Amino acid sequence: MREQLQNLLNLQTCDAKVRELDSAAKQLPAKLDPLRRDLAKLQGMLDVERGKLSETEAWRKNQQELIDRERDALKTAQSKLQQSKNSKEFGAATREVENKRKSISDREAELKKVSETLAASNQQMQARDADVQKLRDELAASEAGMADQLNALTSQLAEAKAARDAARALVAPNWVKTYDTLSAKRGYAVAPVIKGTCQGCHMALPPQLNNILARMESIETCPRCGRLVYRKELLEPPAADEAPKT
Ligand SMILES: [Zn+2]
Repeated sequence: MREQLQNLLNLQTCDAKVRELDSAAKQLPAKLDPLRRDLAKLQGMLDVERGKLSETEAWRKNQQELIDRERDALKTAQSKLQQSKNSKEFGAATREVENKRKSISDREAELKKVSETLAASNQQMQARDADVQKLRDELAASEAGMADQLNALTSQLAEAKAARDAARALVAPNWVKTYDTLSAKRGYAVAPVIKGTCQGCHMALPPQLNNILARMESIETCPRCGRLVYRKELLEPPAADEAPKT
């Protein structure tokens, strides 16, 4: 019975290890999600800003074209002025020249302001692009590191599963069945008894049961939680302290 209990406990320890590694492997990829979210948010903000900048750039080009056209119109007005035959034509041409000059200089002043703002914004944009790139590099490095970690975990998991299968093969089939049912229902199946108390549910066992356990001639169950119980001091398995908690 001692051996059978040892095997059951060993199986429980192996199962816990498999579960632990399995959940670690599953949780690992999600660890970088916050960084990915940050990056996507920053990238989105930059894209919006870039869109605004290109609108402003389009406006600037359009404004430059308008100025070029007005310069042509100014030339026309200037030649009209030279060709004016009377004071009425001269006056009209003069006004037109002045109007064109004023309009050109207004547009140029505005264009200058916008161009300066644009240059500053472009510079800012470059700095932010560099920041985003840095973050992206960090993410790539973390992902590479994580792939290594995941590989290590996967091989540890494979080893743990092999050990678990070996441990399972050592347990008598009827006990495997009981073990599986209890594990599914209670989280784990085998619990130590310390000073007459089941460590699975913390109930004090009836004294007769505790005495039966002392003989180690049978495998008994806790009347409250139904787990397979053993006197800890009689078995002292190396990993008993690591029995999973629920
Ligand atoms: Zn119990």
